[in-house]
Amino acid sequence: MAQKPVLISGAGLASLLLARSLLLSKIPFRVFERDASLSFRGQGYRLRLSSEGLDAIESVLDPAAFQRFYDRCGKTGGSGFTGFDAITGAVFEESKMGESLGSRDGKIVGIARGEMRKLFMEGCEEFVQFNKHVKGYELTEDGVRAIFADGSKSEEGSLLIGGDGIKSSIAKQVSGGRLKVYDTGARGIHGQAPTTAFKGLGEGVFRLQDDSKPTGRVGLITNVRPNDMDDANVEFGWTLSAMPGVIKAPNDDYTIVGKVAADIAKSLTKDWHPRFKPLIDQMNEPEAAFWKITCSTPSGVPEWPNEPRLTVIGDAAHSMTPAGGLGANTAVRDSALLGRLLHEAGGYREGLTAEYEKGMRVYASEAVGQSYGMATKMFKVTINEASHTMEAE
Ligand SMILES: Cc1cc2nc3c(=O)[nH]c(=O)nc-3n(C[C@H](O)[C@H](O)[C@H](O)COP(=O)(O)OP(=O)(O)OC[C@H]3O[C@@H](n4cnc5c(N)ncnc54)[C@H](O)[C@@H]3O)c2cc1C
Repeated sequence: MAQKPVLISGAGLASLLLARSLLLSKIPFRVFERDASLSFRGQGYRLRLSSEGLDAIESVLDPAAFQRFYDRCGKTGGSGFTGFDAITGAVFEESKMGESLGSRDGKIVGIARGEMRKLFMEGCEEFVQFNKHVKGYELTEDGVRAIFADGSKSEEGSLLIGGDGIKSSIAKQVSGGRLKVYDTGARGIHGQAPTTAFKGLGEGVFRLQDDSKPTGRVGLITNVRPNDMDDANVEFGWTLSAMPGVIKAPNDDYTIVGKVAADIAKSLTKDWHPRFKPLIDQMNEPEAAFWKITCSTPSGVPEWPNEPRLTVIGDAAHSMTPAGGLGANTAVRDSALLGRLLHEAGGYREGLTAEYEKGMRVYASEAVGQSYGMATKMFKVTINEASHTMEAE
């Protein structure tokens, strides 16, 4: 009898790398993605890849595919942030200390999230279904089915993996509500501008900090890579973030994109030093997008009674703040670990998801704790696990 497929909810970074692993292991799978396509919504921001993240990706892809992936990554010189006072333009003394960002070959390695998804999906296309909003699951005698928002059900799978991000319904159902996401109240705006707007900065990874506002700190992070500097058709991204209460979208609607978000970014940075102003003034307005700083349980990935035919990967299991740039790097570790266990077993076996969860809890809890710790300093956020507001549905 043909092997039942592994069902995967969501076609994000973690899911697609797991799918790729299953493809190479010749284990059947189906991926269900809520969006209409990979490029349905802004994929703008750039991910920094740590040594652990790159190692995980390398362990999944075959050597030629990994080389292609690595070649597509941008490499920036320097090993850490250079920090500037956004108003005066002065370099912070302490700016070279702290976080070390370099991973391979002494370079800071990064890639756009959208591009990473495309590269991971290569070869898996026919097994990925779009416009499939997973709402939950039902167990069968010896398998599981995904349940979609329109009430229909998937074919029977051997296993269902929730890789559907911070609002995962699989995570809620399987953990009985123990997997939580907290809204820190801090908000950000992502933007991008032609590379020529970044000329004043030169190559490197930069953190601009504005402590002049009575409402609270505003910061911006950007990565300026040497190769595309003179091509006005290429854009670099930046991420503006602020302490709770500083950035407010109309009607608290953070799904709004475009001019509204661009105007708020412009007004927050109107007094910034001329060296940094072009990044904001020349931004591609339609691409501006808000984002919320959320975090899963800071004390670590909670325990729940293991359900052998279900588990969760990536942000569905352990979302974290952007501080530290660890979210995607931790997500790909899940894909590598779960993919390896499935490869070794030739597919589903009892005890497999419990083994995966035990391993994942160790490194993911550490990453969430680290990211939360940095966010408390950067954005002055605090989460009281007993009484804090949850991220809304
Ligand atoms: C501004 C910003 C900068 C960041 N920078 C970094 C960085 O430098 N380094 C780093 O390591 N991390 C970074 N992160 C974090 C990183 O983006 C996430 O941790 C990572 O994308 C998680 O991958 P994932 O596959 O778990 O989830 P996602 O990539 O969010 O994918 C989830 C997928 O599931 C789909 N989906 C959602 N709900 C459903 C449903 N009900 N049914 C079906 N499909 C569904 C979604 O459409 C999406 O395609 C950053 C995040 C932000 C916001």
